[in-house]
Amino acid sequence: MGSRSFVVVGSGIAGAFTAYFLARRGVAVTLVERGEIGGEASGNNPGGLNPLHGPGIPGPMGDLALASFRLHAEVAEDVRRSSGIDFASRPVARVHLAFDDRDLHELAHAKAPYETVPGFAARWLERDELLAREPRLDRSVLRGLETEGNLRVDPGAYTRAVARAASHHGARMLRGEVRGLVRRSERILAVVVHAIEADEASEASEADTIGCDGVVFATGPWSAEPASWLDCALPIEPVQGEMLLVETETESEPVRLDLVWREAALYPTGGRTLWVGGTERRVGFDREPSDEGRSILESGLRRLLPEIGAFRVLRRTAALRPVTPDGFPIVGMASGWENACLALGGGRKGMLLAPAMGRATADLLLDGTTDAPIDTCAPARFLHAASRRGRRA
Ligand SMILES: Cc1cc2nc3c(=O)[nH]c(=O)nc-3n(C[C@H](O)[C@H](O)[C@H](O)COP(=O)(O)OP(=O)(O)OC[C@H]3O[C@@H](n4cnc5c(N)ncnc54)[C@H](O)[C@@H]3O)c2cc1C
Repeated sequence: MGSRSFVVVGSGIAGAFTAYFLARRGVAVTLVERGEIGGEASGNNPGGLNPLHGPGIPGPMGDLALASFRLHAEVAEDVRRSSGIDFASRPVARVHLAFDDRDLHELAHAKAPYETVPGFAARWLERDELLAREPRLDRSVLRGLETEGNLRVDPGAYTRAVARAASHHGARMLRGEVRGLVRRSERILAVVVHAIEADEASEASEADTIGCDGVVFATGPWSAEPASWLDCALPIEPVQGEMLLVETETESEPVRLDLVWREAALYPTGGRTLWVGGTERRVGFDREPSDEGRSILESGLRRLLPEIGAFRVLRRTAALRPVTPDGFPIVGMASGWENACLALGGGRKGMLLAPAMGRATADLLLDGTTDAPIDTCAPARFLHAASRRGRRA
């Protein structure tokens, strides 16, 4: 019934989708974010929705990845219409490059699912065809695999759009930091929120606790505090990824091919600018772009396109992927709690996996069950690592 109310902590893409699916079920939802909506990893990534490769894909994460991809498509029109935000969703053809036998072997493996999943395709591009399409390519390239069927979104706009669509369906947005829980035994009664700035529709701007029937933790890599409040193990490591937005010289032809080789990736924007991605650094919660990152990215760009000529760096971003030890998310009820749910650890695929994580979380809180294929995401797999200190009543 409409009287039940839930709090979602964190408005990256995972929290935004959780609030969206809860709100669509007609329950009261408060989405609490301490910074900007999508201000962390969810707004600083290339926005690739690629369900056929990644950690555990094909493999144990394959079904969840595809289910989530289909959910993006299913809700796209509603999110667009109810948010009024254009998040630039578009199909992308990507060319994966091979420079040696190892690359060829890996690409042959990557090609297989594109041949069986409807809506996707992949074909080999021989060296001459590659060089005809992008003459600045490194001439030692052997072959390329062109994939079709994947999507790309503007990630910041998308995260804001999903959050605003949640709001359109009745969710309340609250600017504040959750700093603790009020609980009785194994049940959360309220969350403690610091420095709330409520939106104009809110009447609770003075309150520092929000009573609720359930809480979803979608705090990205900031899982240490939720883990201590819930007394459970949430081993999520921040893995920093940097990107550069570069602009090529006026007289140079725009780069048109989306290119990827191992960690290096080029994402053309349509004009003379392109995003360059491909770093993974374990530097704690450091979100400052680094000289090392810049140099890795510039080398990647020159490795793929040695003839690119001069370019100017227009923007640099660094953000933290929330990565678990096995690379799979943590989705489900927190062990031993009646009404605490987790939507964490999307890792390298968090944009892709967010709708399935959000839908599963909403189902679990409202129905106690979900048909989303989240077996590999069970929070209990990390239980052995928890130091069970015993909970205060
Ligand atoms: C360079 C790079 C490239 C990537 N490429 C892709 C890609 O192509 N495809 C893909 O699918 N994924 C990609 N990812 C991964 C993806 O960006 C992340 O997995 C995803 O954005 C994580 O979303 P999230 O909502 O879990 O976390 P976040 O975006 O980190 O959001 C968590 C939010 O919680 C808030 N918060 C935390 N604690 C509190 C609190 N106590 N109170 C209130 N608010 C709180 C934070 O302020 C933050 O806004 C990439 C990531 C990077 C960095």
